[in-house]
Amino acid sequence: MKNNSASASGQPIRASEALRKKLAKLGLRSSVDLVVHLPLRYEDETRITLIAKAPSGVPVQVEATVVSSEIQFRPRRQLVVWVEDESGQLCMRFFNFYPNQRATLVPGACIRFFGEIRDGFFGAEMVHPRFAKASAETPLPQTLTPVYPTTAGVAQSALRKLIVQAIETADLQETLPPELDAALSLPSFAEAVRVLHFPPAGATQEALEARTHPAWQRVKFEEVLAQQFSLRRAYLARRQRGAPALRCKGELAHRLLAALPFALTGAQTRASNEIVADLAQPYPMQRLLQGDVGSGKTIVAALAACHAIEACWQAALMAPTEILAEQHYQKLRGWLEPLGVNVLWLAGSLKASQKKEQQAKAAAGAQLIVGTHALIQEGVDFAKLGLAIVDEQHRFGVQQRLALRQKGGNPHQLMMSATPIPRTLAMSYYADLDVSVLDELPPGRTPVRTRLVSVGRRGEVISFLERQAAENRQAYWVCPLIEESEALQLQTALETYEQLQTELPQCRIGLVHGRLKTDEKQATMAAFLAGEIDVLVATTVIEVGVDVPNASLMVIEHAERFGLSQLHQLRGRVGRGSESSDCVLLYAQPLSQLARQRLKIIFENTDGFEIARQDLQLRGPGEFIGSRQSGVPLLRYADLEADADLVEKARILAEQLLREAPERVERHLARWLGGREELLKS
Ligand code: ADP
Ligand code: MG
Repeated sequence: MKNNSASASGQPIRASEALRKKLAKLGLRSSVDLVVHLPLRYEDETRITLIAKAPSGVPVQVEATVVSSEIQFRPRRQLVVWVEDESGQLCMRFFNFYPNQRATLVPGACIRFFGEIRDGFFGAEMVHPRFAKASAETPLPQTLTPVYPTTAGVAQSALRKLIVQAIETADLQETLPPELDAALSLPSFAEAVRVLHFPPAGATQEALEARTHPAWQRVKFEEVLAQQFSLRRAYLARRQRGAPALRCKGELAHRLLAALPFALTGAQTRASNEIVADLAQPYPMQRLLQGDVGSGKTIVAALAACHAIEACWQAALMAPTEILAEQHYQKLRGWLEPLGVNVLWLAGSLKASQKKEQQAKAAAGAQLIVGTHALIQEGVDFAKLGLAIVDEQHRFGVQQRLALRQKGGNPHQLMMSATPIPRTLAMSYYADLDVSVLDELPPGRTPVRTRLVSVGRRGEVISFLERQAAENRQAYWVCPLIEESEALQLQTALETYEQLQTELPQCRIGLVHGRLKTDEKQATMAAFLAGEIDVLVATTVIEVGVDVPNASLMVIEHAERFGLSQLHQLRGRVGRGSESSDCVLLYAQPLSQLARQRLKIIFENTDGFEIARQDLQLRGPGEFIGSRQSGVPLLRYADLEADADLVEKARILAEQLLREAPERVERHLARWLGGREELLKS
């Protein structure tokens, strides 16, 4: 098996040290890496076009004799070469050139040039064409020429040579069992890569560049299959890792439920049961609790913490912002301290001495620790961490989530998110997660009315605010997002705060932004919660998680600048009480096409899943999830949306092969991931 996988991942590339370094930049280390380094596109050098007949703007090949060649210095140093064939003349222009290139382009030489003709200042010309010496007898290539992704210092011709060698020497045998392979009705792996690297005579550029070509289908399927193997293996590896089996009678959770002013929704009960069942297992839970904003994830997390605590282990909850972490802390304290649980606060803004003290308590076994990134910093050690909860998990990078897990050996992990992951992404990027979904909002919520209002009608919004405040209803006013500059964003928030004070003299207006000191933020949020502030002017610091049920109006200024998930999150801050709520999206013209589409989507949809699905369509999975967040390098050839059917097939096959033919899995992974599988585990 060792030998097999070694040969499947190929021999090291035979090239100079310098070239190998450059190839490594392209991820090319072995012969097999070269085999799966596939062309971006193709060029047609099988034909010669007459200069007079050559269309401009598309790649063409001409064969011509050099008439003159000179270096000009104005406007900048360049080599200008005039050539002619039987039909006419053409100018070739080079801004960078080597002496040996110049030596080739001497008057009288017969040269083949490949490039695009464009209309320059002095007539038709080619800038930086590829060229090679030829004679009337030099045969034309019979097939299309592949063009590979490359990097500085690695010429296409060098890559082609290496790939030809690699195809000859590498092991191209199927990794799939013959009967399964046949069922795919696709060309074999060997056939597919041969077709793509060495197009057969007569194959058209169009057919080969279409990713629906059977050869591409084969390659994409193999790639997706490798990803599925890898994710599935990570899943199985996790089951091998030990974790404390958190078993208890559930008395603490029971007492918490009895003390709550509400009953759980069906979805909350279901999710909670799934979590409790996982916690009782001797391997670490890795579960995502996914629920739209306001679906009540916090209480589910609290119940999970109760189980850990009753089983005599610690639980920790990490949130991405201090405002949110603070709010969790207050809420959890309110719920759990009366039941005798000690709840600890740990955030970056604590004074050094306080932090030390809290860290010491965490190390001594505090039962529930709530905080921000401070939880994963150095110096924090948990005595016995049984459960790590990460709220708004998509806000954290993979490394940060891993860090919390590593703090306490192998705790169970519960991640929470209101940003739903569309099904195709869930299948391929989060195959190692179990998912619980809260698909039901607590009763008594009234849907939020969304209004799109142009800034020209800001005055009407102000009057509306005034009437709302007169009825003791509270509002958020979110200031425009200014991506480029935090300072500018802050300035805008201050200006808005002052402006609203003059416009709404009757109202009590508050301000929160990221630069305030923690206790100032806390004081303002507490005042808002207590109803002592009517209008809270805020930057996006309130985007996630903040929960003030009496707030029933959300105004978002320059809504066209926000992303869809942000808008959805912000809108979710209202509609939490029994009053009917409004969300006013103030926008300024002109709207870009994309901004217009986003506003339309948010206006027409309230369901977070639908919004995420449309967001995915708008942006594509690359941006949606980013490899930083997923920890999984994006696929090179397959496209999750377009190739969802391949992902589905690969997923089923992956499970079967891992059971039935592990040695084939090894070979397949070696071929597709070489030594890079570690990257996929997280
Ligand atoms: P999110 O899922 O957005 O984190 P929260 O956990 O903040 O939502 O819950 C939103 C609000 O709904 C909170 O005020 C919470 O106390 C309340 N809530 C949660 N579950 C229920 C329920 N079953 N019935 C009524 N209110 C609930
Ligand atoms: Mg929340």
